[in-house]
Amino acid sequence: MNIHEYQAKEVLKGFGAPVAAGVPITSADEAEAAAKRLPGPLYVVKSQIHAGGRGKGRFKELGADAKGGVRLARSVEEVVANAREMLGHTLVTAQTGEAGRQVNRLYIEDGADIDRELYLSLLVDRSVGRVAFVVSTEGGMDIEAVAHATPEKIVTVAIDPEKGVTEADVAKIVAAYGLSGAASEDGKTLFPALYKAFTEKDMSLLEVNPLIVMKDGHLRVLDAKMSFDGNALFRHDDMKGLRDESEEDAKEIEASKYDLAYVALDGTIGCMVNGAGLAMATMDIIKLYGEEPANFLDVGGGASKEKVTAAFKIITADPNVQGILVNIFGGIMRCDVIAEGVIAAVKEVGLKVPLVVRLEGTNVELGKKILNESGLAITAADDLDDAAKKIVEAVKG
Ligand code: GDP
Ligand code: MG
Repeated sequence: MNIHEYQAKEVLKGFGAPVAAGVPITSADEAEAAAKRLPGPLYVVKSQIHAGGRGKGRFKELGADAKGGVRLARSVEEVVANAREMLGHTLVTAQTGEAGRQVNRLYIEDGADIDRELYLSLLVDRSVGRVAFVVSTEGGMDIEAVAHATPEKIVTVAIDPEKGVTEADVAKIVAAYGLSGAASEDGKTLFPALYKAFTEKDMSLLEVNPLIVMKDGHLRVLDAKMSFDGNALFRHDDMKGLRDESEEDAKEIEASKYDLAYVALDGTIGCMVNGAGLAMATMDIIKLYGEEPANFLDVGGGASKEKVTAAFKIITADPNVQGILVNIFGGIMRCDVIAEGVIAAVKEVGLKVPLVVRLEGTNVELGKKILNESGLAITAADDLDDAAKKIVEAVKG
């Protein structure tokens, strides 16, 4: 689960990290009140969407010379004018795709005088099995580009979970940034605080890009991107409340209500599969035969008829889906239950695209019989290969 920048900063503030004063707003009137509460004379007006690259982004509805999704303003009037222009418009960034995201909320912040922009992130480094700091002097820009062009400018400091962030770890980070004076002192509390926030809140990513050294020599978290481990959210009710469903794929939200593991993709073949491994294999074989999957969907081991029906509805609601492949191995799950679920769903939502069903395992004969006698236009397949071939042929016409 991702949250907005203004929420992430609030979380970090709770751990003692230095962030600017700021106010989230949703209207131009609120923008004026917010700016008046800040000291000025420099303000920042920041689009709150779940995507990075906002500063370099562009608003779809505005002209090519309009400014991006993060703007500096030097008076209350300028804040309001920018808020009016940005609110309700669609921001396209390198991370949103061409569709962009509608900006419904802005964060009005006290502007900082920047001396240097640094990069910092905390993530789970699977190669060493530890949480690690990834730091670079090349802040404020696309870190993937830095990693590609100048990988030596990225330093990783993995943290021993038993010791936490040690003085030696802090020294490594300070050295990698080349910090001195006040900034170096700030680092002694900031880096352990970020680690504490990351581990206590079960984050999967915390990216501060940029972390800045201000003209007065102190550090400040200027941007913050925070993601939480979905499997640990059950023990963070406070974080759950930060979820903004308007930023998420509607189909994924619907799927999560039924405990379906669903990820929307760009292809044309909707997949309903049980087991993550089988789902991956199904996606692979669809690609092998020259088409692309429209989603990853694992209905799980013990799916009920209701769950199967819900899954089917989610797949058919996707306008990109030109064909559906149901691939179920009945272990705990019985093939007849799947068949009944599929039929119930087809009767409820109708079937406008070809449907290929491959069933194997417990009660497979009964499942096939139910499908055959349903009178619906369902193509039965014998194995995974046969199923993939049939659905790809059907979609390609
Ligand atoms: P992103 O484009 O979505 O990553 O948004 P950021 O929050 O990182 O802001 C983009 C850029 O705007 C930063 O890299 C800074 O150069 C600039 N910026 C943001 N806040 C301030 C500020 O308080 N003062 C100044 N001078 N520049 C800022
Ligand atoms: Mg940024």
